Amino acid sequence: MGMIRGVGVSAGIAIGVIHVPDTAGHAVERRSPDDPQSEVERFRSARDAAVAQLKQLRDRTAAEFGEGKAELFDTHRLMLQDPDYVESIEDLITSSKVNAEFAVNSTAEQFAAMFAAMDNSYMQARAADVKDVSRRVINVLEGRRGGTAADTGGDSRIILAEDLAPSETVQLDRSKVLGFVTARGSANSHTAILARTMGLPAIIGIGDAFDPADDGRTAVIDGTSGLVFVDPDEKTLAEYQGRKAQFEEHLRLLQELKGKPTETKSGQQVRLYANIGRPSDVAAVLANDAEGIGLFRSEFLYLESEDWPTEEFQFEAYREVAQKMGDRLVVIRTLDIGADKQVGYFNLEHEDNPALGYRAIRICLTRPEIFKVQLRALLRASAYGNIAIMLPMITSVQEVRDAKKILDEVKDELRGGHVDFDERIQVGIMIETPASVIMADELAAEVDFFSIGTNDLTQYTLACDRQNPNLARFADPHSPAVLRMIRMAVEAAHRHNIWCGICGELGADLSLTDTFLRLGLDELSVPPASVLPLRNAIRNH
Ligand code: PEP
Ligand code: MG
Repeated sequence: MGMIRGVGVSAGIAIGVIHVPDTAGHAVERRSPDDPQSEVERFRSARDAAVAQLKQLRDRTAAEFGEGKAELFDTHRLMLQDPDYVESIEDLITSSKVNAEFAVNSTAEQFAAMFAAMDNSYMQARAADVKDVSRRVINVLEGRRGGTAADTGGDSRIILAEDLAPSETVQLDRSKVLGFVTARGSANSHTAILARTMGLPAIIGIGDAFDPADDGRTAVIDGTSGLVFVDPDEKTLAEYQGRKAQFEEHLRLLQELKGKPTETKSGQQVRLYANIGRPSDVAAVLANDAEGIGLFRSEFLYLESEDWPTEEFQFEAYREVAQKMGDRLVVIRTLDIGADKQVGYFNLEHEDNPALGYRAIRICLTRPEIFKVQLRALLRASAYGNIAIMLPMITSVQEVRDAKKILDEVKDELRGGHVDFDERIQVGIMIETPASVIMADELAAEVDFFSIGTNDLTQYTLACDRQNPNLARFADPHSPAVLRMIRMAVEAAHRHNIWCGICGELGADLSLTDTFLRLGLDELSVPPASVLPLRNAIRNH
């Protein structure tokens, strides 16, 4: 048995088999097979197996996200069946007498270079696709399971990876992933936040203890203590089975708080909302009895997509969430792309300091054609529920005015087309930069609410990159500087009679619940699994 210590970032215990995804790819060996014809046969059957995997992924994606999202896998299947692609691989095997893996890899490189050199941005984006599908075939040839972290070969697995990008994490199928462990990462990265949103036990920062040879071994992971046991002995296994049952019992007891008001013993009420990243998270919001959604990170719709999500696709996603939440408020944050949330088709330039770079509202204000598509979708969806719009990364009154001007233009266009939307839709901002706190009085006069993003507010106030695990000791969100910022924002909001909540991870920190109640926060929005523990804490206050 091996014991590894990492940093627990999402509570819960998982016991299961490890899957090490081959996301980064690895060098492909060149060999000279004795019988090229049987190598061609090997290629054909691997290609068929990859096509079958894609069909399964397609069906699963269609069931969870709708037909639109599943189309990508059809494109991938067609690529694998493309006669030019197949002929190029088979020719290489027979004429150059090379192994199938090498021929697939060389053809992928050649096709990708050809796509990348094209004028049209749609075709350029296909370069990544051809590499992706070819990697899938190579994995089959090498006896590996699949191409991505989301692809566990149909079995429930604990994912063990060097690192997971937010875009990979958001695609994990909760019913097939028991939890994850990564070598790198930081507690406030979006990958860790997503794990908490999805209620998956997760551990980061195991560093050099990461060993891809652990693939297929049994493991126990404890997302609270950060401990990982590979090939656990019977005593450890029994102990953790017991702890897992206790954890589940604790969750079961909390279920009794469903339907009860979120109110202190002295009658102070707080609105208890949940954070989501994609429409399917609403199930967890409802199961945990959240009173609304205080943060829908809409950029995950962009991160999951291979190309610009259309107005229609976004409209369906926002409408679905709004309808499922009925009259409960759904705060949808506009696009917060940039920094750690990178999307290929945005073609963002490399930046030395991306957290201080071209991101979020800065992209929306300089590329209104992108912003308007999202605003149209949001406004149209507002006719189906109780939606509010929230602007991220605000630093000045001018940014709010500019964003509202674009919003007004979109409203006028919709009115002109007789398209329904909620004329009284609330518009709020995230308070996550020191500038927004300093300007809180002026900003409060412009908007309907504030929601404090403590993750970025901590990063920018303390000058500590939230992605850097070496700064954990300095990036303390309990710092008086951060708490004073929170107080300043709440007080300014209340002076202007608007409501103020917290949607950063600190909202779920039970050691600060008393402080937040004293400061008079009107709303706390937390990962769905934190809703009932927080209600419990508030009711006992
Ligand atoms: C925050 O910064 O606290 C926040 C809620 O936004 P995100 O974590 O997505 O940056
Ligand atoms: Mg933020």
